[in-house]
Amino acid sequence: MASEAVKVIVRCRPMNGRERALHCKEVVSMESTRGQCFLQNPAAASEPPKQFTFDGAYCQEHSTEQIYNEIAYPLVEGVTEGYNGTIFAYGQTGSGKSFTMQGVLEPSAQKGIIPRAFEHIFESVQCAENAKFLVRASYLEIYNEDIHDLLGADTKHKLELKEHPEKGVYVKGLSLHTVHSVVQCEQLMETGCSNRAVGYTLMNKDSSRSHAVFTVNMEICTVDERGLEHLRAAKLNLVDLAGSERQSKTGAMGERLKEAIKINLSLSALGNVISALVDGKCKHVPYRDSKLTRLLQDSLGGNTKTLMVACLSPADNNYDESLSTLRYANRAKNIKNKPCINEDPKDTLLREYQEEIKKLKAILAEQMGMDNLAGRRAAEMTETASGEPPLPKDTVAAVDEEPAPVQVRLRLLLTRLNKPEWVMPMLWCLLFSEMQLLVSSCPQDPAAPQTVQDTGGVSRRSAATGMAVTAEGMALSVDQQQVLARLQVLERQVVGGEQAKNKDLKEKHRRRKRYADERRMQLVAALQQASEDSSDWVLLTVYDSIHEEVRAKSRLLEKMQRRLQAAETEIKDLQLEFELEKIDYLSTIRRLERDLMLNQQLLDQVQLLVRRDCNYSNLERMKRESIWDEETGCWKIPEPVIHKIHLPAGNRSVLMVLLGSEISLVYRESAWKVCVRHGPFGNLRALWSGSGVGSTRALTEFLTPVSSCNSSSPAIIQTSP
Ligand code: ADP
Ligand code: MG
Repeated sequence: MASEAVKVIVRCRPMNGRERALHCKEVVSMESTRGQCFLQNPAAASEPPKQFTFDGAYCQEHSTEQIYNEIAYPLVEGVTEGYNGTIFAYGQTGSGKSFTMQGVLEPSAQKGIIPRAFEHIFESVQCAENAKFLVRASYLEIYNEDIHDLLGADTKHKLELKEHPEKGVYVKGLSLHTVHSVVQCEQLMETGCSNRAVGYTLMNKDSSRSHAVFTVNMEICTVDERGLEHLRAAKLNLVDLAGSERQSKTGAMGERLKEAIKINLSLSALGNVISALVDGKCKHVPYRDSKLTRLLQDSLGGNTKTLMVACLSPADNNYDESLSTLRYANRAKNIKNKPCINEDPKDTLLREYQEEIKKLKAILAEQMGMDNLAGRRAAEMTETASGEPPLPKDTVAAVDEEPAPVQVRLRLLLTRLNKPEWVMPMLWCLLFSEMQLLVSSCPQDPAAPQTVQDTGGVSRRSAATGMAVTAEGMALSVDQQQVLARLQVLERQVVGGEQAKNKDLKEKHRRRKRYADERRMQLVAALQQASEDSSDWVLLTVYDSIHEEVRAKSRLLEKMQRRLQAAETEIKDLQLEFELEKIDYLSTIRRLERDLMLNQQLLDQVQLLVRRDCNYSNLERMKRESIWDEETGCWKIPEPVIHKIHLPAGNRSVLMVLLGSEISLVYRESAWKVCVRHGPFGNLRALWSGSGVGSTRALTEFLTPVSSCNSSSPAIIQTSP
């Protein structure tokens, strides 16, 4: 399987009002023809700028339209052919991720990648020949490491991630919405966006605090020249990530801070996955460290074509974040994916339809067959010993005759409809309805359908069914109407080929495809040119004079010195960045420790209030019995259980001593005494004595054998007469 690197582009937005008001300087510049991005360290103006090369570099003047046409177009086109695709935007808050993914309505050139992908998908679907598509969309967000369905009935409900041996990682219970048009997709996106969790930070007043994934699922059924169907499935993930900045910079507190910690954790997990994938020696890729990485598992190193858009702010006060984004992006471009067309997928909705259609088809065939019994019997009588149905006499003549186009089509449809192995439900529906239309447009000559079948040479059974179909096409029974109605419902689920005859649209489609290819070639050529301009040839060239050689080699030396300097700065920067990250992590750990301490203190207090006969009164044991569940990313903790103790009726006394884990019952002098044998007396929480006994002497007598095994004396909290 051919591997393909993750495509990475970088986009820098214009200065915003806040940055202008702060008189920030621009530190990002681009060389778009070569896909190069330069970042100048504002604290070291004498140093050469850092240089990064990507599959595209876009600055303020570039529109999302250009980005889409140059780089996203081939990826989305691949999805309509059966490849999985993922496009995700990465960058600090306010750097333009949502602007790139969702975009704005005005100017139209800045419409986002997501709505453009909708248009593109439906354009491809409509232009397709001999293909039908089932398109369904879902929209989810990961907020504080919980997955929510943005299009579900309850957006607050938390969904679980599951793994399937064939389907891979999926979200259990995520709603899928069948879509037939761009407008429907846009409506879904709007609904989902309004349900996204947004919060306020210093960086961006409506910054999204969650990762959002809009997925377009496609099931594609194509028919080849031989009339054979091929089923494919593909999905396009459109991901708008939450911001990647440090907590200190956003001024986050309280809930916002908790969000930031979770966001940083999942983005660090994403970074670790990228590092592990790029580092050839690493055996374990930590996909399971966050929901985001598990969900994107296939997009990073798996069966998907992936595009990452790294978004930058041009301002000098965001230098650290911009550098971190560029480094992240630079690592990501080395990830190798293994995209392949997903042929013959299992568990598709089409397969479910298939079963239903088979049943419906059988019902129709049976009913129509019965209706046409007479015709079938007549045919059976002419069957030969070989079992092969010979063509009736009048039919032989008909073969030589030029059949009418409608009849030819009907013949073809009948052949397909009656093929036992012919199982593609959508096409069956379509062919069936087409046949109905054709039949109703045929002259009402009872001989006509007979000629059609026989001319086609289809089997006798098919012919009989066909007859019934054609006859029933004009007068259907109630049952048949219901079956047909259901078939039509199934048919309405699918789209494709509506503009297959629209030459202009098809030409436009082809042009856009060509444009992306040409642009890629240009970039490759420009990069080749750049590498030719560099070093090696200087040493190999034979020079006419010593002066010329000295000049050339001095230039080379200067260049190498600059490179060396850049490499040294890079090392220093990396160390600094590592330090900053360490500070961030340590502060996160300190905060988490404080949170943990608070929870522990609260728990200690609350534990005193828990009934002694409840299993949760012994928290240590509950901790031991809890199991971490990798699948759900949650602890499985024991159910709370109350151990019911039935006391004998009457004036009897009960002494309850709770010391720890094991409860034993001591019956003494007609009283129940409950004591926990193993456990320090320091843990003694409650002592309860019923009426009757309760004298200190009896109590001491009872406790003596127990206390002799432990030096601490029990604390009697309550005694009652
Ligand atoms: P993010 O999603 O990364 O937090 P946004 O996409 O919301 O950031 O962008 C922050 C602000 O910057 C928005 O007001 C947006 O309109 C503006 N912006 C971002 N990128 C561009 C761009 N390329 N051109 C013009 N404005 C932009
Ligand atoms: Mg955003």
